[in-house]
Amino acid sequence: MGTTDLLLLGTTFAGTLGFASILRAALAGRQEHEPPRLDARGLLLFVPLVALFAMRAGEGLLVPMLGALAVYQLAMLSKVLHTPRSLRIVLVLGAAAVLHHYGVSIDSFRVPFTTITMPLGWASLPITAGWLLLCAVLFGRAATIPSVCYGVAALSGVTFYLVALMVPWAVGEPARLLALIVAGVSLAQLPAAGQISQLPSQPSGYAIGFLIGALAVVGALKHTAALAAVLPMLVISVPLFGATYTYVSALRGMRIGQRRQHLHELLLDQGYSARQVFGVLMGLSAYLCLLGLLMVSLIAQPVWLKALVLVGGLMFGPLVFFVILRCLRRPDMAFAEGEPLEVEMFNVRLHPLSMEAALERAEGFIREGGPHMIVTSDTSAIVRAQEDEELRTIINEADLATMDGQGVVLCARLLNFPVSNRVPGVDMMEQLCEICARLGRPVALLGAAPGVADEAARVLEARYPGLRVTYRHHGYFAPEDEPQIVAEIQRAEPAALFVAMGIPKQEKWIRAHIDELQVPVCMGVGGSLDVVAGKVKRAPAWMQRWGLEWLYRTMLEPRRLPRLAALPRLFMMTLRKAVFSPGSHDVGVGPADAPESK
Ligand code: UDP
Repeated sequence: MGTTDLLLLGTTFAGTLGFASILRAALAGRQEHEPPRLDARGLLLFVPLVALFAMRAGEGLLVPMLGALAVYQLAMLSKVLHTPRSLRIVLVLGAAAVLHHYGVSIDSFRVPFTTITMPLGWASLPITAGWLLLCAVLFGRAATIPSVCYGVAALSGVTFYLVALMVPWAVGEPARLLALIVAGVSLAQLPAAGQISQLPSQPSGYAIGFLIGALAVVGALKHTAALAAVLPMLVISVPLFGATYTYVSALRGMRIGQRRQHLHELLLDQGYSARQVFGVLMGLSAYLCLLGLLMVSLIAQPVWLKALVLVGGLMFGPLVFFVILRCLRRPDMAFAEGEPLEVEMFNVRLHPLSMEAALERAEGFIREGGPHMIVTSDTSAIVRAQEDEELRTIINEADLATMDGQGVVLCARLLNFPVSNRVPGVDMMEQLCEICARLGRPVALLGAAPGVADEAARVLEARYPGLRVTYRHHGYFAPEDEPQIVAEIQRAEPAALFVAMGIPKQEKWIRAHIDELQVPVCMGVGGSLDVVAGKVKRAPAWMQRWGLEWLYRTMLEPRRLPRLAALPRLFMMTLRKAVFSPGSHDVGVGPADAPESK
C-alpha cells in the first residue's frame, strides 16, 4: 500500500465519518418531530472528491466520481418531485452515456476461461449503460437496509483493492484508487448505519452502486469485478425472484398484487434477529469476495481447475449459508406455542423439550406412579437405531426421549424442527435427584464398575440433602443374577432408577424389566455415574456451552473414538434430507401425548 493509497483511504474514511456525524447531529434534532424525507448520505461522496483534488491524484477518477454524484442528485430530485421510477432509470442511463463518452466503457468481452476477446463495437454503449444501471438499481434496492448495503459495498471495495494489489498490471491505478474510495466511504458509514436506518437512503444507494459498476468498468479484471458487483443481487435475490415470478404470472394473465419481500425481510419475518440477518448476509458476501480473490490467484492455472473451483465454491457457499441459518434457529421461532411436541428424525421419535419441560414431565411420571421410561438420545443412539430395530422400537415407545447431544440438536435444527437446547443426561439425572429429595422419594443406581455406584450415591446424598439412595449395584452382573437384582430394586421402592450400562445395553435392560420393576422413572444414564463419582472429569463449562463435551470425553477416553463416526453419518443423512428432499417428510412434527393421557 503506497503513501497515496494510505492518504486517500485515511482522508476518505475519516472525512466521511466526520461529515456523517455532523449530518447525523444536524438531523437528530429534527428526527423526533418530523422524520427527514431526504437522503443526505450521497453528499458524503464529496469528501473523497475533495481529497482527490487536494492530492492532485487520480485524474481518471473524476468522471466516475462526478457521474456517481450526478446519479445521486438526479435520483434525489426524482424522489422529491415524485417522478415515476422509469424517469429515474432514464436519468441513470443518461449519466452512464456520459461516462461512456468520456471513455469509461465496456468495449470488449472476454469469453470466460479463454483468451478470446471479442470487440463489442456499437453494442458497447447499451452494454455499459445497462451494466451501470443494474448496479445502481440493485444497490438502490439494497439500501433500504443501509447496514447491509454499505457493508456489502465496503466488502466489494476491499476485495477490488486486494485484487489490485495481487495483479496490478491487470487492474491499473484508477481502479485501485476508486476501490479505496468505495471502501473508505462505505466503511465510514457502517457505524452510523444502524442508528440512522430510518432515514431514506435509496438515492445514495444508487450512487454507490453506480460507483461500484464504474469500478468494474475502469479496471480490466471484469470477471472478478462482476462477481463483487453481483453481491447486492444476492442480498435482494428474493425480490428479484419475486419480480420475475410476478412478471411471468402477469404474462399468463394472473394478477399478483403483493410486493415480494427482500431476503432480509423474509429472514426477519421468520424470527431471526436483525443482527443475525446482518451477520449471515455479510458472511455470505465475505465468502463470495474470498472466492473472487481465490479465482484471481488462480489466473495462471489451467481452465478446468478454475472452472472446478468456481462451480464448487458457488455450490458450497449457499450450502454453508443454509446450514448456518438453520443452526441459528431458536426453538421459539417457528413453534412458539403448542408444547409438548414430538418430532420424528429418521424414524426415531424424539421430544425436543427444554430441560425444564423434560423435568416437569418426569415429575409428572413420579406423581402419577406406574412404570415410565426415559431415553436420552444422543447421536450414536439415533444412528444405531437405524440398524438396531429393537433399540428403535424402545426409543419410539419410550414415555420421554430427550435430545442429549449437540449433534442431535444441530441436525434437528437443520431439518427445521423446533428444538430447545440439548438436555444433557447427567444434568437431568442430578436434577431428578433434587426433585426426588424434595418429594421425599428414594432413588436407585444400577451400573458402572464395582464401587462406582456406591461412591456416586454418597456424592448425590451429600449434594441433595434429604435424598436417599436405597439401592445401588454395579453393572457387571451375570444374567442369572438378574431376578435377584430386580427383586431388590422392587423392595427398595425407588421413584427413579438410573441405569448406567451404556447405550443400547441399558435401554434393552430397562425395557426387559420395566413391567416387573414398576419404577415411575427408569432412565439410562450412560457414563453419568462415573462423572458423578468423580471417576471421569466433566468438560470445562465453556466446552459444555459450545457443545464440545463429546470432544473432551474422547480426548480423555480415546477408546470412544470409533463412536465419533456416528456424527458425520447423522450429519450426512441430515444434509441429504434437508437439501435434496426438504418437502418429503419422513420427519414430522406433531403434538406429543401429554403425560396425563397415558
Ligand atoms: N457398563 C456397565 N456394564 C456393562 C458395560 C458398561 O456397567 O456391561 C458401564 C461402564 O462401566 C460405564 C457405562 O456403563 O460406566 C458406559 O458409559 P459410556 O460412557 O460408554 O456410555 P454413554 O454415556 O456413552 O452411553
